[in-house]
Amino acid sequence: MDFIPRTDPEAGLETAGLWFIYKNGRLLVKTADAECLIPGSVDLQRLENAGVTLTCRQFIGSLYAADKLNEQPCYAAAVASGEPPSDRFALKSLRALLSRLDEGLFWAAGRAGHLIRWEQTHMFCGACGYGMENKTDEKAKVCPMCGFINYPRVTPAVIVAVTRDDRILLARNRQARIAFYSVLAGFVEPSETLEDCVRREIKEEVGITVKNIRYFGSQPWPFPDSLMIGFTAEHVKGEIQINPEELSDAGWFDRENLPRIPPRLSIAGRLIDWFVKKRAD
Ligand SMILES: [Zn+2]
Repeated sequence: MDFIPRTDPEAGLETAGLWFIYKNGRLLVKTADAECLIPGSVDLQRLENAGVTLTCRQFIGSLYAADKLNEQPCYAAAVASGEPPSDRFALKSLRALLSRLDEGLFWAAGRAGHLIRWEQTHMFCGACGYGMENKTDEKAKVCPMCGFINYPRVTPAVIVAVTRDDRILLARNRQARIAFYSVLAGFVEPSETLEDCVRREIKEEVGITVKNIRYFGSQPWPFPDSLMIGFTAEHVKGEIQINPEELSDAGWFDRENLPRIPPRLSIAGRLIDWFVKKRAD
């Protein structure tokens, strides 16, 4: 399934569809039916009957089957009060569902989580402290007192596959809960170009200089609100000297001897896959 995000302030919430409901940052999934984990409109009634009330209800886009004929509206909401009955529902972290959900469902769940978190952390004006209201013509909040407007936050980060001859630079992050090696990544700073950010991050994390920085592709990464912008680059000079505050190990790997790497669903996985398929010049 493909998920197409859409913002349509006019969209009603009546058409039957899938509901991506969050409580305390975790996604509500059904436990009774292993095939369809995401609650449908019919499940909303079950939740209401169990005394669960929802807030921040909104249309977030549509899922399309491979034939593009079947459109399924997707909605987001947050639990305002009540406990979802534990015999039918469970709360899961989105990360835990990364490899269990269909790709389209995962991106829809990511957009829902991103928007719900923004709703819940921007209830008051950052300039004057007054309660914010939803803007009627676009996905934004406006302060009725001072007019300050707040848009959903997207945090850009670069992610880079650095190659040296026929090898790729992979590193183990000190914070990673699962021990795997990946390409390097880092957040963009104010007034920095993406290329500057690539050069700075690589220098800071492993002490090497790169050239031939080329755009690869991008991917939303809803943990919690990033946009990953992928690049490839080539080693120019310097030997690996890891920054021990960020990394526990880093090295050059050839395609026959890769360590444990991230899943292909992530842009990190796609960058490593690009390296594996690329033939040496
Ligand atoms: Zn204000």
